[in-house]
Parts: sequence; structure tokens; C-alpha cells
Amino acid sequence: MAKLTLPPLPYGYAALEPWIDEPTMRVHHDKHHQAYLDNLLKAITGTEFENVPPEKLLAGLGQIPEKIRAAVRNHGGGYVNHNLFWETMAPQAGGAPAGELAKAVGKEFGSFDAFKEKFAAAAAGQFGSGWAWLVVTRAGALAVYSLPNQDNPVTGGDTAILGLDVWEHAYYLKYQNRRAEYIGNWWNVVNWTKVGELYGRARK
Ligand code: MN
Repeated sequence: MAKLTLPPLPYGYAALEPWIDEPTMRVHHDKHHQAYLDNLLKAITGTEFENVPPEKLLAGLGQIPEKIRAAVRNHGGGYVNHNLFWETMAPQAGGAPAGELAKAVGKEFGSFDAFKEKFAAAAAGQFGSGWAWLVVTRAGALAVYSLPNQDNPVTGGDTAILGLDVWEHAYYLKYQNRRAEYIGNWWNVVNWTKVGELYGRARK
């Protein structure tokens, strides 16, 4: 496997304005995401794990030696989570899912609005740093919950198809303490086409 790299944003730093501001995107991608990658590499380079995809490391955290387990969990999680975050947002996006994902959301949550309410409540209710997640469970169902820090659902056997970063570094420059406003605005940049693709892949 080629050495892990920081994927560039799939759009410009200012592309998600006015919902997510350019200064936040610059520091979030170039500094925070880069640091997760750097620290993951520091932990695994020269070990038997350096060529294992980071998602696999997170799925089997219990098998990682204790000496580097916390680094893999935190920085490997940070690396993987932000890769998903950037690719599931887009300018001129938002709206609602379509196709199979729309059907599954209706079946699991009753309606798209009910899903949004549940997801926003998970994001708002996460005490301190963490993420809200929409996942596909092992049984193939959809579920919503939050996890602290950079923990990724794959460690619990679920596949994340959408995540919302509610670390303060994700919103503080623009929104300060107004996390609920950040969450409400974020729906305008969710790339449901991409989330639908990830849903299809996770169900295979
Ligand atoms: Mn972040």
C-alpha cells in the first residue's frame, strides 16, 4: 500500500460558504486533518501495521498493541473521519436523499424530517468533542448515534455513511458557542448523492 496521504478537499476552501467559512476549512483540513495523519504515521511507521488500511486498524482495535492503540484510535480515527466528512459535503448540495437510501430513511425513522431531528439531537447532545453518525449496521439497517472524540463506528462493527464533526475546531471561528446553529446550517452542504453511494456500497 502506498503511504497514506492527505486527500485534497474535493472543492475550494470557500466553496461551502456561507454555511462553513473559509478560515475554518483551511485550518480544519490543512492543520487538524494533517496532524491526525502525521500522528497516525508516527505510530504505525516501522510496525507490521504500516501497510494496513486505517479502517481495518480501527475495525480491529483490540488486536493493536497497547503501546500504539490509543494513537491509532485517536489519530487513525481522526484521519478516517475527516476523509469521510469532506467527501460527504459539497457546495450547492443539501436537500434530501433519493432512491434506496430515501426508502431506508423512511422505513427506519418514519420520515426524512424525523431522521434530521434525531441526528441533530445526537450532534447537539454529544458532550464535549465527538461526532454524530449515520451508519449501516451489520444487519444492514440504518442507525443514528454520537460517539466521543474521534471514535469511528467501524470499531463497533457499523459502517459510517455520514458524519458530522462537532468538535469546537469545526465551528468555533464562525459560530462560537452556537453549536445548534452550525448543525442547522450544515444540512445545506450535505452531499446526499455521495451518501447514497456509500449506502449502496455498505449494503453489499
Ligand atoms: Mn475535525
